[in-house]
Amino acid sequence: MKIGVYPGTFDPITHGHTDIIVRSLRVFDKVIVAVAPNPTKRPLFDLAERLEMVKLVTKGLPHVEVVTFKGLLVEYVQKRKAHAVIRGLRAISDFEYEFQMALVNRKLNKSVETVFLMPSEEYSYLTSTIIKEVARFGGRLTDFLHPQVAQRLLRRIGTRAT
Ligand code: ADP
Repeated sequence: MKIGVYPGTFDPITHGHTDIIVRSLRVFDKVIVAVAPNPTKRPLFDLAERLEMVKLVTKGLPHVEVVTFKGLLVEYVQKRKAHAVIRGLRAISDFEYEFQMALVNRKLNKSVETVFLMPSEEYSYLTSTIIKEVARFGGRLTDFLHPQVAQRLLRRIGTRAT
């Protein structure tokens, strides 16, 4: 049984993330979506909210487990007896950072592989940061986010603005 761990901040989960989860289910028997606290990124949603939204969006997908994790990713991967880290690659601009992370993780634990998957091109420009900007300026979110995630984002931005 091949297990992949898909880590990220998911602030909030977008259709781009979901696209990667669906693709990874074609490669792995089980996918663990691991939501990281990432306080240095100063997320808009707290960890519990991000976890809840990922659970909501992936509810209908078989063989997906959604968790939060603390500490080193490679340690978590080993603890779960997983085979690989899954990351999405949108564009060349993602490459440098992802390449560094994959090699650092390999240095930390040489048995952990990183697998990169490319999203559908319609999501290749999509980032959680851009979506938050679109939401702030009242743009339409339905092409990018699950309706309930969009609703929560608008509510959050509304409360922040007041
Ligand atoms: P992190 O802080 O770990 O980068 P993110 O939630 O921003 O967390 O991203 C998690 C993973 O999902 C990363 O590998 C990122 O490249 C990938 N990702 C994010 N948005 C998209 C998208 N639109 N298409 C494909 N992959 C994506």
